[in-house]
Amino acid sequence: MLTPSPLSEIIRQQREFFATGTTKEVAFRIEQLKRLKQAILDNQTAILEAVKADLRRADFEAYAEITAVAEIDYALKHLKSWAKPKRVSVPIAQFPSSGYIYPEPLGVVLIIGAWNYPLQLVVSPLIGAIAAGNCAIVKPSEISVNTSRVVSEILRKTFEPAYITVVEGGAETSQALLAEKFDHIFFTGSTRVGKIVMEAAAKNLTPVTLELGGKSPCIVDSEVNVKCAARRIVWGKFLNAGQTCIAPDYLLVQRSIKEEMLEAIASCIREFYGENPAKSPDYARIIDERQFDRLVALLKEGKIIVGGEVNRSDRYIAPTVIDEISWQAPIMQDEIFGPILPVLEYEELTEAIANVNHRPKPLALYFFSNNKEKQARVLRETSSGTVGINETVLQFVVPQLPFGGVGNSGIGSYHGKASFDTFSKYKSVLKNTLWFDIKLRYAPYTKGKLYLFKKIFSL
Ligand code: NAD
Repeated sequence: MLTPSPLSEIIRQQREFFATGTTKEVAFRIEQLKRLKQAILDNQTAILEAVKADLRRADFEAYAEITAVAEIDYALKHLKSWAKPKRVSVPIAQFPSSGYIYPEPLGVVLIIGAWNYPLQLVVSPLIGAIAAGNCAIVKPSEISVNTSRVVSEILRKTFEPAYITVVEGGAETSQALLAEKFDHIFFTGSTRVGKIVMEAAAKNLTPVTLELGGKSPCIVDSEVNVKCAARRIVWGKFLNAGQTCIAPDYLLVQRSIKEEMLEAIASCIREFYGENPAKSPDYARIIDERQFDRLVALLKEGKIIVGGEVNRSDRYIAPTVIDEISWQAPIMQDEIFGPILPVLEYEELTEAIANVNHRPKPLALYFFSNNKEKQARVLRETSSGTVGINETVLQFVVPQLPFGGVGNSGIGSYHGKASFDTFSKYKSVLKNTLWFDIKLRYAPYTKGKLYLFKKIFSL
């Protein structure tokens, strides 16, 4: 673990490098993004192996980490236009001035990641930080120990530490970093730690982006293609063994189709992972024993209708569906973040919406229905960071869609242009000429001037 003084030294060096103005050059940023892309591509095997060692993810799912290169391509395509100052129109009263918005980098930023998508969750914000022209310190999660090491190696080999560096360690390292002054802190993790981060940031008035979690509901209406909905729900829920921040946390299904829906879900689980998912090469494991024990404790209440098998030495929890769950059950109190899907039912959409709105605003909300009016109603009457209509999880991978929570599920957003915005300050500039001067604003404020002033502002 690093003590605060070496950390201060790293930050000092980064500030010095930032002050040279090198990172402000768009050509430099483009070059660095290309280097990052190449480094990820060159280390694909090491990344896939590390993700397998941490979470036993199948390559197909582990490639999700490597899709960060698509994000780089998107930034490379648009960076020149994003970085250009934009001219804006100004009111006639300010004639002959002209207005501009200059995006400028913030300086030295801190990126703290979570363990569930351990490379992507630090590299994706890093792409925004580089694109916007910042220096960065990256702290991956210590829990995904193998991927954290690979991320460190890649970044250390690719960048000078005075520009981008990695600091490895757990909560104490994180807190030592948070005691330093940064120009922005980008945090991905739990709501609990998000509060600690924001409190520390407040001491230095550092702006934050908090990518947090929460319970993302999945509402299933009766007007639905049951089989297709079941496939998308099962995929989104059991991907990475449920350890996805935007996985459907619980199912809220209309009573009239509940039995049919549960049968379809059970059949999909068998189709995807076989009769014994423990033997499936495509089914991931729980990250560690602490998370495993927390999840197993959630299996006590309700009626398990699919799965329920666990094996601590293998950190295996079968894809599990639990019926007969009440809103008061322990599993309905906090984000599950594992392969357990509790099922609740509703009679009317009004009731489902009221129940969702009664709880903290989720990171994602899923609604399955072919009825456009009901879709519009859910969009209008609920609030969440993101929404999937007849879809799960994929809203995360569309660079044109800013990703982030609201309320307890987060502050700010990123991906695509939103990442560039997050790590930029939009500086407002008003330029005037000294060739001539309209004297209306200057004292003495004669009656004539006041008359004109009121006319201009329609007062
Ligand atoms: P976590 O909050 O325990 O840890 C996240 C990071 O904070 C780690 O790097 C860790 O070292 C650090 N940390 C831990 N305790 C700390 C403390 N006391 N002070 C300062 N730093 C501390 O989260 P996690 O278990 O790694 O990840 C799971 C959570 O992250 C879930 O809630 C999930 O929903 C959320 N998540 C959100 C997103 C998103 O994009 N919104 C993505 C992935 C995960």
